[in-house]
Amino acid sequence: MSDNWIEFFSLDADEQGAAQLIDAQVQWLLDREIIAHAASPDEFLGAYREGPRRVDAFDMAAIPDSITADGKQTLFDGVRVEKGWQVSHNIDGFEGPPCPICGSWMATDVAGDALRRWYVSQVEPEVECANCGHADLLGNWPHKFAGYANYASLLFVNSWPLSPQFERELLGRIGNRPGVVYVRL
Ligand SMILES: [Zn+2]
Repeated sequence: MSDNWIEFFSLDADEQGAAQLIDAQVQWLLDREIIAHAASPDEFLGAYREGPRRVDAFDMAAIPDSITADGKQTLFDGVRVEKGWQVSHNIDGFEGPPCPICGSWMATDVAGDALRRWYVSQVEPEVECANCGHADLLGNWPHKFAGYANYASLLFVNSWPLSPQFERELLGRIGNRPGVVYVRL
């Protein structure tokens, strides 16, 4: 499995609020024993590793048998926290999001330009669908392989897909406008 991560963030929290929101999720993951403190924190893998109850975050039926055959189930390599104004975006295979009204895809270069404007201005841009004319803030066009600006994020590094139920639960804890992207390097 090549390097990847699943990155969670809030679209509307300010700098202080976003940091508090992400810290609260780290504590929640520690309390649920999905993660544990790392003996040696790592720049890429972060300060947390798999916890004793890590399987609670996954649908084990969806994980290939080959990685569980030896009894060692590596479901993710680490959990990392990023703080400060940033863009969270897929790298290998970045895609524009589909229109939330008609489903037609935003061109990749249009999405990339809007994302750059968002990062530079720190103001979320409004984008318009080339097909139906629907206009809304870029963050209201959710897509796992696109990108969004934010003030803090929580990343499952080198992770198998989380269970849909766990992903919904975590998103539900991240404020009014939560977001998630799947990043492949
Ligand atoms: Zn549309």
